[in-house]
Amino acid sequence: MTSKENRVPRRDFIKKSALGVSALSIGLPLNSAIASGCTSSENKKLGVALVGLGGYSKGQLAPSLLETEHCYLSAIVTGTKEKEKAWAEEYNIPKENIYNYENFDDIASNKDVDIVYVVLPNSMHAEFTIRAAKAGKHVICEKPMAVSVAECEAMIKACNDNNVKLSIGYRLHFDPYHKKIINLSREGTLGTINHVRADFAFTIGDPTQWRLKKSLAGGGALMDVGVYCIQACRYSFGQEPIALRAQAFNSGNEKFKEVNETITWQMEFPDGKISNSTTSYAMSVNSLFVSAQKGKAQLMPAYSYGGLKGFLGNETLDFPKFNQQAAQMDAFALNVKHNTESIVPGEEGLKDMKVIEAIFKSIEQDGARVLI
Ligand code: NAD
Repeated sequence: MTSKENRVPRRDFIKKSALGVSALSIGLPLNSAIASGCTSSENKKLGVALVGLGGYSKGQLAPSLLETEHCYLSAIVTGTKEKEKAWAEEYNIPKENIYNYENFDDIASNKDVDIVYVVLPNSMHAEFTIRAAKAGKHVICEKPMAVSVAECEAMIKACNDNNVKLSIGYRLHFDPYHKKIINLSREGTLGTINHVRADFAFTIGDPTQWRLKKSLAGGGALMDVGVYCIQACRYSFGQEPIALRAQAFNSGNEKFKEVNETITWQMEFPDGKISNSTTSYAMSVNSLFVSAQKGKAQLMPAYSYGGLKGFLGNETLDFPKFNQQAAQMDAFALNVKHNTESIVPGEEGLKDMKVIEAIFKSIEQDGARVLI
C-alpha cells in the first residue's frame, strides 16, 4: 500500500476516521475496517480525474464522488489556476495530481488515476477523450459525446486501440424512474408503445457563455438538453429511429446569432410509430409522455437531477431520493474492475449524434425527410 493509496477526500477521511474509532471500540483490527473502505486491491476505490471544473463538476460530480463506493476524486485538470487551491483543500488532492490542459498527457504515469471524466465544453470532448485514451485511462465523457459523428467515431476508435473503456455521461439510465421507462418496451408492461413525446427546454441566461457559441457548443439546446429527448424517444420505444423531419425557429433575439433558439423534430420508428420533440433555450419544458396499447406513462419533471415525478399505467411512481451521478460513476468503476461493458458506451453517444446530424440536415433542407 503506497502513501498515495491512503489519500482520501477530507470528508471521506473524517468518515473513515470515525470508522476507525468505532472499529477499535468494538475490538476489530483497524486494518480490516479500512480494507472495507478502499485500500485492499479487491476493494480499492478507483481514482477519477475530473477534466474541467465548471458548474457540473463543482455542483454535481465532485460532491457525488464523496458518495460513491467504487471510485473517488483523485485528480483534477483545470485551465484556471485560481481553482486549484480550493479544490485541493476540499477534496484532499495532492499537488502532483493537479494538471492543466497542456500537461494533461502526463497523467499517463499517474497510478492514482484510473478513469478520466471529461466535463468540458462540447467541442473539447473529442480531443480530451482521445488524449485520455492514449494515456491509457478509461474515459467517461459528458453528453453530447462530441459535436460530429466523425468525432464520435474517432473517440471510439481511440479507446478501442488503447484498450480502455468509454462511457457517456447519460446519468438517466441509472435513475429508477427512467429504468421503469426503459423496461416498458423490454418487458411489454403496457403492450406496444404507440407514441412518445419528449420535450426539454430552459431559458438561457448569460449571452456570452460558451453554450451560445457554435465553435464550442456545436449547436444550441439540441446539443445540450435536446439530446435527452433523443435518448428518451429511443429507449421508450426500445427501437432505433429510421428517419426524421426537423424545424428551427428563431425569434430574432440577439443571443441566438450562432445557434438555434428552438428546434422541433419528429422521428419515425419501425411500424409507422412516431415521436415528437421540442428543445429550446427560450422556454421551460421538462417532460416525457409515452402512449402505449394498455395505458400511458409520464414523467414531469423528467430529466432533472432529482425530484422526478410521474406515473406508469395505474401506478404512481415515487422513488426515494437517488444520486444519479454516484450511481453512474460507480457503475462505470465496476465495469472497469470487472472488465464488463458500460450500459451507455460510446456507441450510444454515436447513435444520438447520427440523429443530431440528421436533424441539422433536415433543417438545412427546410424540414425535408432525412433517413438516419
Ligand atoms: P461550465 O461552463 O459550467 O464549465 C465548463 C468548464 O470548462 C469550465 O471549468 C471552464 O473553465 C472550462 N473550459 C475550458 N475551456 C473552455 C473554453 N474555451 N470556454 C469555456 N469554458 C472552458 O459547463 P458545464 O455545465 O459544467 O458543462 C460541461 C459539460 O458537461 C458540457 O458538455 C455539458 O453538456 C455537460 N453537462 C452535463 C450535465 C448532465 O446532466 N449530464 C449537466 C451539465 C453539464
